[in-house]
Amino acid sequence: MWRASVLTLFPEMFPGPLGVSLAGKALAAKVWSLDAIDIRAHATDRHRTVDDTPAGGGPGMVMKADVLAKALDAIPNDDRPRLLMSPRGRPLTQGRVQDLARGPGAVILCGRFEGVDERLIEARKLEEVSLGDFVLSGGEVAALALLDACVRLIPGVMGKEASAAEESFSHGLLEYPQYTRPPVFEGLAIPEVLTSGDHARVEKWRQAEAERLTKERRPDLWAAYQARKNPEKGR
Ligand code: SAH
Repeated sequence: MWRASVLTLFPEMFPGPLGVSLAGKALAAKVWSLDAIDIRAHATDRHRTVDDTPAGGGPGMVMKADVLAKALDAIPNDDRPRLLMSPRGRPLTQGRVQDLARGPGAVILCGRFEGVDERLIEARKLEEVSLGDFVLSGGEVAALALLDACVRLIPGVMGKEASAAEESFSHGLLEYPQYTRPPVFEGLAIPEVLTSGDHARVEKWRQAEAERLTKERRPDLWAAYQARKNPEKGR
């Protein structure tokens, strides 16, 4: 079973959206498990303090290393990667998601306020993971997004495994456009090739469209894709 443990000040946010649809069914079927751990339960003082003012001054509060370490250390020692959701982390990619989904699960720490004491990250060797170049109010939504991306790749969660193999990023390209009935919508027809029944032509069209969209929208992905296809041309 793929196991997720999430450390948070808001355990009531879990499983949240992961309790419905395919992820929710798989959770109920014990294909994966989710343990939401209340960080505050590991505070030691009378007021259950989890944060304090930043050393050096400045606005906001910082999550305390000692409380977070206690919460992390209470999780039985296992070989799951320990992640910290953080805008300073390496941006999450489908490749990293695939690696995580193939592994035993993940332990995920969700920050709040100004973030966590740097010494905790160092002492517990946390891998900082970012959802993108924007700032959320807490790591919970980021953790839910990461878990959603991982869980749908666990065998038995998605209806058709093939749809995971063909989608955006799996070949380094964005996905081609999709259509379904009716054949004409507000005067717009489905491209003729898709209704031709000629599978070879359909494949060619899809590949060309995936390349066109990637080139237009994501020059960064396009450059990486070409470098992989023609390594001799790269420098
Ligand atoms: N002061 C910090 C932002 C803290 S936001 C800074 O400027 O870098 C509070 C928490 O939200 C963070 O500790 C982190 O857990 C989470 N968070 C915010 N943005 C995120 C992002 N882009 N990706 C992942 N987690 C994020």
